[in-house]
Amino acid sequence: MNSGEGKVVCVTGASGYIASWLVKFLLQRGYTVRATVRDPSNPNKVDHLLKLDGAKERLQLFKADLLEEGSFDSVIQGCHGVFHTASPAVFDVDDPQTQLIDPAVKGSLNVVKSCAKSPSVKRVVLTSSIATALFSGRPRTPEVVVDETWFSNPEFLWEKKMWYQYAKTSAEEVATKFLTENNIDYVVMNPAVTIGPLLQPELNGSSYLIFNLINGSETFPNFTFGWINVKDVANAHINAYEDVSASGRYCLAETVMHFSQLTKVLSNIYPTLQIPDKCADDKPLMPTFLISKEKAKTLGIEFIPLEVSLREIIESFKEKKFANF
Ligand code: NAP
Repeated sequence: MNSGEGKVVCVTGASGYIASWLVKFLLQRGYTVRATVRDPSNPNKVDHLLKLDGAKERLQLFKADLLEEGSFDSVIQGCHGVFHTASPAVFDVDDPQTQLIDPAVKGSLNVVKSCAKSPSVKRVVLTSSIATALFSGRPRTPEVVVDETWFSNPEFLWEKKMWYQYAKTSAEEVATKFLTENNIDYVVMNPAVTIGPLLQPELNGSSYLIFNLINGSETFPNFTFGWINVKDVANAHINAYEDVSASGRYCLAETVMHFSQLTKVLSNIYPTLQIPDKCADDKPLMPTFLISKEKAKTLGIEFIPLEVSLREIIESFKEKKFANF
């Protein structure tokens, strides 16, 4: 029997990059999925979901907005589990409070409050980010291993105007506090930059990072990021939901690499593509570090190698005709 047979779960922000894979795999495992989107009448947001195997029988679409109080009440009512992935995943904003912080923080609180109103909800899976761990104030150097015990310092992020990281850190904090106080079981996913094939027809923030490298940019950013395949992220969410012994946070990163290295890997796979070989600034390259895989492995994640993820995302760009290759 499929693990999800007879079980109803909610996925918030279902049209997004990670959530679309989550919906696909949940349907594959036999779950009935109540998927929330802001605009169910927009084909770009829902057509790729409606085409998934099992969607006709077991996918239900609902309109819900993070900023509307009570918006998720009726969707979550009667669900066994809730996957809260909806959150703006953008970096370039004019008004961080309304564009990022409110939807992330007030929105998460809104969703977990709806969970508290539905006694059917047995576990909540929160899609947080590795950004809620990396900025603890501890230095990151090649020998340092970041793990689930690391927590980013919101005051530091506020001072540095790192709004996305601030929003995710605050959202994780308020949501887990509320869930703990209300005795609701939860797990937290802390993915690194997520890449791999796209199901949705538009670029999202993390796929754009790779798209930029093959679309004429002359330089790469001076950043070191953790990287993970979107299919591993989606499976980690479901495994953490199904495994009764799962608890707390899970760092999800296959590897950590500076863009200077990643562009070399990309050039080796696609020697004919124009890939930048110059850094965007002349400061020292941001140091690398490590992210622990130990806890994620307990969820059965085997980690798709970065090379495969890069190949998959580039092939996806080709297939969707985002650029002429
Ligand atoms: P995405 O494709 O941009 O999806 C974000 C989703 O959030 C969209 O479905 C969007 O809905 C929804 N959303 C935004 N504002 C909303 C609002 N006010 N009300 C309701 N829904 C709203 O991004 P993603 O990369 O899949 O990210 C999904 C989650 O993973 C986010 O929580 C993000 O912080 C986290 N994450 C992502 C990465 C990554 O590298 N991709 C890494 C770590 C963590 P619409 O479709 O209606 O716009």
